[in-house]
Amino acid sequence: MKILFVKPDKSLSLSKVRKKSFKKIFIKITDPYWPKSLAFPILAALTPREYEIEVAEGGFDDINFDGDYDLVGITCVTINALLAYKIADEFRRRRVTVVLGGYHPSALPEEAKQHADAVVVGEAEETWPQLLHDFKNNSLKPFYIQRKPVDAKNIPKLRLDIYPKNASVPLMATRGCPYNCEFCAISHMGFRKIFRMRKIDDVIGDINALPSNFFIFYDNSLTISPKYTKELFRKMMGLNKSFAAYGNVDVLQKDEELLKLSSEAGCRSWFIGFDSICEESLNEIGKISNKVDYYLKAVTKIHDYGMMVQGSFIFGFDHDTLDVFKKTDEFIRVSEIDHISINILTPFPGTPLFRRFKSEGRILTYDWSRYDPGGDVVFQPKHMTPEELYQNAKDLHKKWYSTPANVRRIFRSTKFGYNALRATLGVIFYEKTQNW
Ligand code: SF4
Repeated sequence: MKILFVKPDKSLSLSKVRKKSFKKIFIKITDPYWPKSLAFPILAALTPREYEIEVAEGGFDDINFDGDYDLVGITCVTINALLAYKIADEFRRRRVTVVLGGYHPSALPEEAKQHADAVVVGEAEETWPQLLHDFKNNSLKPFYIQRKPVDAKNIPKLRLDIYPKNASVPLMATRGCPYNCEFCAISHMGFRKIFRMRKIDDVIGDINALPSNFFIFYDNSLTISPKYTKELFRKMMGLNKSFAAYGNVDVLQKDEELLKLSSEAGCRSWFIGFDSICEESLNEIGKISNKVDYYLKAVTKIHDYGMMVQGSFIFGFDHDTLDVFKKTDEFIRVSEIDHISINILTPFPGTPLFRRFKSEGRILTYDWSRYDPGGDVVFQPKHMTPEELYQNAKDLHKKWYSTPANVRRIFRSTKFGYNALRATLGVIFYEKTQNW
């Protein structure tokens, strides 16, 4: 029996990249920023060994539709949903059983079911083994719904042999985020609001098994339980790995012990969702971890401990007026944030934001392929036109990823070490692939 796991990605059709060998080399150098899917090593660990497993990531042309697969499992986020459906339809046309899962199918299972034999809704650790059992017995059900949060002890150690040696694979020590930001697709999927911590020894086991010496913690935030994270970082000392992690600014602006331990454990960069420089917008979305006053302090402290900051900003909140772009630009300049992620607010299905905009008649399109925070506007903003929102965000992105800005960025990253330089090149390359 053979399973193909597919992660469609329309933003980076690998077949196009393959044609340009310089890009291929660039991806190799910057591979920490092109990590493999984390879902598949988890699903593989839960799959009996009688199944052979293959993995495909990329565009339609990257899929081998003539493979002798018995089952195809496709995971997707909203922007790739239509591509996922196209791939699913093609396999079903060839009478291969297709299962869809991930953020978008979990938010809209009835829609996904039109393109699949079964849909996995929410976390899959407990439903996937049941699905395989039913598949083997020819009794597949249309929906496999996780009815309670998966216990952290049921999150298996990663099965990494499904990927090529030296593949860059992310990790998760914790799962879930108790905050309730209105726009967040992560915390509103299934039981992701329930924060859970894996056994630290299991996480260390996964880290030791990683083939590459740089990885990204995909935890929603590693600052939700500073006590747990400090313990984890203490145990990571001496593993000789470098990593990047997501964290919230309320903790990072004040917890010097956590910053020191993270640096000593090998952290090279913290991803921070600043989201907005406007306090009213933060209140509007319920981002209770953020206060604008914390921002500069957090960035300065992280730099003091020898780590970089990747800051994410979102534009288009109901309290945003056109001057938010200028204020954000000024903050980026003063704080010297190393990498900037410029995003347009996107109402992903399954979020309270989507429901609110829908009820207010402000959704402009249901073409999921346009649900791209990095380069499209799919809703009617309050204090600016969609064109003004797009153009101002684009101008900011252009400014902070111009050639002089990138040269400065590369030069500055060298003081954080080789992996920081690789990560910086990865960020620059990633930003170049965005739709702006
Ligand atoms: S803090 Fe981050 S992960 Fe948590 S709900 Fe807000 S945006 Fe989502």
